[in-house]
Amino acid sequence: MATTHKITLVPGDGIGPEVTAATVSILEAAAKITGSSFDWHTFDAGADAFAKTGEYIPKALYESIEANKVALKGPVTTPIGGGFSSINVTLRKKFDLYSNFRPVKSLPGIKTNYPNIDLIIFRENTEDLYAGLEVMINPDIAQSLKIITRKGSTRIARSAFEYAKKHGRKKVHAIHKANIMKLSDGLFLKCCKEVAEEYPEITYAEHIVDNTCMQLVMNPYQYDVILTENLYGDILSDLCSGLIGGLGLVPGANLGADCAIFEAVHGSAPDIAGQDKANPTALLQSAILMLHHLDETAAANLVQGALETVYAEGKSLTRDIGGTSGTKAFSEAVIAAMGAK
Ligand code: ATP
Ligand code: MG
Repeated sequence: MATTHKITLVPGDGIGPEVTAATVSILEAAAKITGSSFDWHTFDAGADAFAKTGEYIPKALYESIEANKVALKGPVTTPIGGGFSSINVTLRKKFDLYSNFRPVKSLPGIKTNYPNIDLIIFRENTEDLYAGLEVMINPDIAQSLKIITRKGSTRIARSAFEYAKKHGRKKVHAIHKANIMKLSDGLFLKCCKEVAEEYPEITYAEHIVDNTCMQLVMNPYQYDVILTENLYGDILSDLCSGLIGGLGLVPGANLGADCAIFEAVHGSAPDIAGQDKANPTALLQSAILMLHHLDETAAANLVQGALETVYAEGKSLTRDIGGTSGTKAFSEAVIAAMGAK
């Protein structure tokens, strides 16, 4: 008997519900073919949840993730300025999901300036300026504290090197600004260097973040695994998504010792929400990472193969990458490419 995977599902807001519905329909179709099965436990988070329950992250959602250990999550809007603190950051901190894994890999058939990109970003996910430690010193001075710890830096470095070792990656670049932030980024680099010494078979290098932005645009192929802090990782992720065709494509996994939350790199894209325009590929590829995490290799490969077929054919692509199809039509094409009825 195949096991039923209990998965916490957070559709989110903006384009979240659309890309989540598309992804779930594709996973359900794959499950029918491979004999796997999913039990989705669905929850609101953010403004929608607040309107219904009075909590931005309902207690039942926390409990569900604690029990299931695996969640698939759409984007949840974080308002700029006041209001509530980021739901995404809160969940990552609550479950100590310290490792944000973001593979950036070209899909077939998309016209970009950079063919065959294949790099991995490991972004530290719990500290840095994202610790949320901000105060107004007086009405004219705001202070935001950057926290970097030996523990946080060492464990993200270890995640990156372990991944590189396991998957035959050759190079790890630690990205920093230690020339200016000598203590905080200095500590991060020190920890990276110490971990690197345990992996002599993997080339280790250090690049300053501003130079890295230029290097990524001039010659992204020099990078293999990028290892970085929280804020630089956020910015470099969007830059790298641009190399392969945009935010609609890049998946992510937030990994901790006990739980994992799979979510796209992109946000809630309010400009295109509710219009059947969103590209569900990023969340779908996050779901493929989830299938691997669940050891559902057959389903993961089936969905991956169908996705690549749809991209190679180029007939059912969404507008963000030059197509004319909607979210629904794209997901139906992926389901058809799996040979599902
Ligand atoms: P966040 O602060 O949550 O990271 P953001 O401000 O970086 O959000 P996004 O919501 O990621 O912004 O959107 C940035 C741009 O990318 C928008 O123009 C949006 O329409 C586009 N975009 C993001 N995701 C997708 C998608 N899945 N399909 C198509 N376009 C997308
Ligand atoms: Mg963003």
